[in-house]
Amino acid sequence: MKAEIISVGTELLLGHTINSDAAHVARELAALGIDLLQVHTVGDNPQRLEKALRESLARSEIIITTGGLGPTEDDLTKETVARVTGAPLEEDADSLARLREYFGTRPLSANQYKQALLPRGSLVFPNTVGTAPGCAVPAGDGRFVVLLPGPPSELLPMLQKSVTPFLLGQSGETIVSFMIKTFGIGEGDAALRIASLTGGANPTAATYASDMEMFVRVTAKARDAAAAHDLAAPVVAQVRSLLGDVVYGVDVAGLETVVVEELLRRGETLATAESCTGGLLSKRITDIAGASEVFGFGFVTYANTAKTQLLGVPEELLTAHGAVSAEVAKAMAQGARARSGATYGLGITGIAGPSGGTKQKPVGLVYVALSDAKDTWLRRLLPQGRYLGRERTRRLASSHALDMLRRRLSGLDVVGKWAV
Ligand code: ATP
Ligand code: MG
Repeated sequence: MKAEIISVGTELLLGHTINSDAAHVARELAALGIDLLQVHTVGDNPQRLEKALRESLARSEIIITTGGLGPTEDDLTKETVARVTGAPLEEDADSLARLREYFGTRPLSANQYKQALLPRGSLVFPNTVGTAPGCAVPAGDGRFVVLLPGPPSELLPMLQKSVTPFLLGQSGETIVSFMIKTFGIGEGDAALRIASLTGGANPTAATYASDMEMFVRVTAKARDAAAAHDLAAPVVAQVRSLLGDVVYGVDVAGLETVVVEELLRRGETLATAESCTGGLLSKRITDIAGASEVFGFGFVTYANTAKTQLLGVPEELLTAHGAVSAEVAKAMAQGARARSGATYGLGITGIAGPSGGTKQKPVGLVYVALSDAKDTWLRRLLPQGRYLGRERTRRLASSHALDMLRRRLSGLDVVGKWAV
């Protein structure tokens, strides 16, 4: 199945709005294994839209338009599609009922009413967020024009709830996808390593950088779920082996889930000592149901006196090396462990910024330590040698702490390229 996107809106041509709708639709099509031939942008001009629609319909089976479904005068997508497909606009009872519900006791203006008119024979996609419904309009020879609203907050849920199932139904196929999650490798690096797999049409493999982590989504289509699963499984295994031990799980929620579940399985416990992350690490751990079995203690020790009094970090260490140092991070991890009686202690100290850096200790510098009964490990972080901002610095530090423990629990090298 071949597809094209036509984004409608003069604001897109003027550069006032970035065409994120097309990106959302394109990603979804890629995940479904549908070939996207072209993305067009036209202004709020019915003649040019009509021309684009006719040309696209001559090439492709699925045309997806974004924008121009609303109540205003320049919203002409539906009228134009009705003309091109030869399906006159008709009142859709469900859409009218939804509109009336949306407006409550306020009267419906003629422009608002217009949104309940849809090309005859359309499959309607309800708008759960706004007023204008979307729809799929048959265009002959098994072709369809799919109309979606412009605001991304309305388009996205419609895409996921209605359009994806519709497109799958068209192809008579089922889709199965797996998300392989990694920590500690960049998207470019990962894409290179799995380059031999990303060219495939079915299954598809694509990388996503998300929240400082890197995911690979493998998607397979087949007549039924079992067959799709059988297609995808070997590619998932290949991705895992090409990426190696940076993979922390497949279809798992996050690093914190993996760590908490493994600690539960082993009957072991964890305590944290946080300076610059201010409790973010313990928050992420306690986000996971069942965390109380493995986590009894978290110390937020911002001031030097707190590090000394609560964790037993020697004053001499703080004086000699400063609060942000390898020595203090290790002493924090050891202190958290010793004071709580937990199996493992994690310590984080750093300069979250934006101010407070020096030449020797720039903003963004963070030390993360893990301690068990025998050893203490340390990572020194200064991501890509540059400052990522306060929030991302803190988030990344907490992820490193979780990753160190994950690797210790899996018997892997704990420190890796972040050695001091
Ligand atoms: P409305 O009911 O809000 O009028 P609509 O379906 O008619 O929705 P448009 O009028 O074309 O959509 O656009 C409404 C708003 O949606 C635009 O002002 C813009 O903020 C956003 N928008 C439209 N098209 C896109 C796009 N392709 N990418 C991102 N945002 C878009
Ligand atoms: Mg509009």
